[in-house]
Amino acid sequence: MKTMKTMKNLSIFILTLLLSIVNVYAQKSTPKKIVLFTNVMVFDGTTNKLLKRDVLVEDNLIANVSEEALSVIQTDNVTIIDGQGMTLMPGMIDSHVHFNLSMGGGRPGMESSRWDYMAVMGAASAQDWLADGFTTARDLGGMHDGLRRVIDAGMIDGPRMYLATAMISQTSGHGDMLLDGQTDPNQSNLARLEVIQLADGEDEVRKAVRRSFSLGANIIKIMVGGGVAGAKGPIWASQFTDEEITVAVKEAATRDAYVAAHIYSDEDIKRVLNLGVMSIEHGQFITEETAKLMKEKGAFISPYLASVASDEIFKHPIFGNKDGFEYPRVMEMKENSKNFIKIIKKVQPNIVYSSDIVNTNGTPSRQQRDFEKWVFAENLGNFEALKALTSTGGKLAAMTGRANPYPNKLGVIEEGAYADILIVDGNPLKDITVIGGNPEWFTAAPRGRGISTIKIIMKDGKIYKNTLNN
Ligand SMILES: [Zn+2]
Repeated sequence: MKTMKTMKNLSIFILTLLLSIVNVYAQKSTPKKIVLFTNVMVFDGTTNKLLKRDVLVEDNLIANVSEEALSVIQTDNVTIIDGQGMTLMPGMIDSHVHFNLSMGGGRPGMESSRWDYMAVMGAASAQDWLADGFTTARDLGGMHDGLRRVIDAGMIDGPRMYLATAMISQTSGHGDMLLDGQTDPNQSNLARLEVIQLADGEDEVRKAVRRSFSLGANIIKIMVGGGVAGAKGPIWASQFTDEEITVAVKEAATRDAYVAAHIYSDEDIKRVLNLGVMSIEHGQFITEETAKLMKEKGAFISPYLASVASDEIFKHPIFGNKDGFEYPRVMEMKENSKNFIKIIKKVQPNIVYSSDIVNTNGTPSRQQRDFEKWVFAENLGNFEALKALTSTGGKLAAMTGRANPYPNKLGVIEEGAYADILIVDGNPLKDITVIGGNPEWFTAAPRGRGISTIKIIMKDGKIYKNTLNN
């Protein structure tokens, strides 16, 4: 009996061993997917010139970036792309989006949207951003991890997603989107769908942060000031106490995440930086002293330049309407932001590209994105705009530490980074229009999905667009 049991154990052992050998053999015999880019000029995300390089992609990572011409010995599963002397650059990163809030109609429009409409509009946005060459997007409120899971499983096209999930706001804060007739969050669609979470006091903030983690957050978003569009108070309103913000920072740290704050006023920016907030969303009223503090802390700023560094905003149907309640706030925004460009140029903190598009999808959303690129490049220079769109966005993405769903480098063309790559017809260091920049906003000619001068879009080693020979 004992012998039989030993024999049985032995045969199981041999079978397991054989299976593992077969498994190893199978892994070895599947050739890596190789893509070699030759005849390209590389913008690597950090250098202010184009470099003549060959770029080798193995599966989903960049395996080699070489001054010497590279060749491939492997014969199966190899694609060699002659870039015809065009620019190869990292896929772009939009560091402040709201995909789930892309339906129209302002606050009432959001409040009256059913979950299915919201989700499908979010998915359409994700497709649109990727088609424009954005291979990563940082969603700063409203999007849970459902779409990311579907995108990452390869079932729908879209960028990599970093998520803040529900926006956490105090009652009467910028994220309190209850309509006048709604007296309780339970009556609010946006609260029920957890686009927003209202939290007052340390215990409620702690609970809200923990709830955001359940929704798939990598970032915690808190509202610390008012805004142009918010109906619950002025732009300068200071929101959340030091104690509440500290709770959010500490609780975020338990997941290696960080806190991002919606904020404009300089005093509040200083306050939150000293409490450990690592990203300033908007922040255009920042003074030079506070910008230096931000740099010292290694924090990031994601400004919205379209409304402050140009007068195009006055063509906006709502913000440009002199009779609207928003108009004086737009004026206040412009007045308080007038030194912003000068300060950023002087202090040079970490600054990222942020479209912050809400309430639109399709054509107007593209126009806004394109204009934001142009206004960034026009005011801070093409190199600064490109860095913001690539390597600095990548550094901000990496701040999520162990909570990072994409742990390799993003926004750079270097060995070991994710193979998120664009081939662009033209040199974006000289001409921002080749990546979609447009000097007009509302009057810009409407365009369909995708930018014709972006010839190849690769994300995670997979080619989503190739019009190189068209
Ligand atoms: Zn926003």
